[in-house]
Amino acid sequence: MLKIKEFLVVGVGLVFLVACSTAKKTTVLQNPQTAVIKPSEAIENTVIPKDTVSLNEQITQRANQQNQIDPNAPLSPEEQAKQLFTTGIHKEYDFAQAMHYDWRKPSYVMIHHTSQNSTAQTIRTFQLPHTKVSSHYVIGRDGRVVQMLNDYMRGWHAGRGKWGQITDMNSVSIGIELDNNGFDAFPEPQINALLTLLDTLKTRYTIPQLNFIGHSDFAPGRKDDPNVLFPWDKLAARGFGIWFNESYLMPAPATFNPIDALKLMGYDMKNQSAVIRAFKKKYVRTDLSPVLTDRDKAIIYDLYRKYY
Ligand SMILES: [Zn+2]
Repeated sequence: MLKIKEFLVVGVGLVFLVACSTAKKTTVLQNPQTAVIKPSEAIENTVIPKDTVSLNEQITQRANQQNQIDPNAPLSPEEQAKQLFTTGIHKEYDFAQAMHYDWRKPSYVMIHHTSQNSTAQTIRTFQLPHTKVSSHYVIGRDGRVVQMLNDYMRGWHAGRGKWGQITDMNSVSIGIELDNNGFDAFPEPQINALLTLLDTLKTRYTIPQLNFIGHSDFAPGRKDDPNVLFPWDKLAARGFGIWFNESYLMPAPATFNPIDALKLMGYDMKNQSAVIRAFKKKYVRTDLSPVLTDRDKAIIYDLYRKYY
């Protein structure tokens, strides 16, 4: 186990050296023969070439065998990362590590409630192998924020769903879980901590106002979090997500099509009743029937005029 870790550390170190060393870069440029290798050559060389690194499955397997690791043993987070890295490289192509990259940069924030009884319980859930769920942040009712994933990593919080053209929301979003049993109101310290976190994320990653959404927006009918008491109006007032003008609502003109407007906002209209319910849970709160009243249409019209 130690040896494989050392192997990984050396491997990562080599990647870092390739990426960071100007001296190395000059060598690569001067000697193009060593800049690009075939994966098969990488397998034959037990020593990974210093200026080009190909993380190949067979190399990993050999290292595992040498270190007598049980192939059926559950993978550690480091090994999982290594495995993902390996499958992301296509063996049929040559490989040369480019210098400039991120793991991925978030452009959406998705808000959830945990449906659990405490922050500790949620943290435990995200640390158990069989649950297969995770989020980047968990915020307690007392306002304590626990980060569980690097912002640049892909969490497993959104699941199946669609928002606009996005189906793989995990790849583009940060997941924030609010400790909440699904029914209670969200205490002020929790919302204040959330607002501070959203402010940081919005600034750091230039996330547009419209890209702060709830799980129920993305997966209406399947998910209903955050619950009906979540203060989307407070968030929108600070530039996270959208809200309508509560003091004056202009009636929607007869020519206005609210279903088209919901689609434009991002909702997947495959299950229209579920979308209307999700929309009303977020903006109307009192009447959750899957039918749009004149007031509901006026709300959609107001949002449409204001943001789209
Ligand atoms: Zn959720």
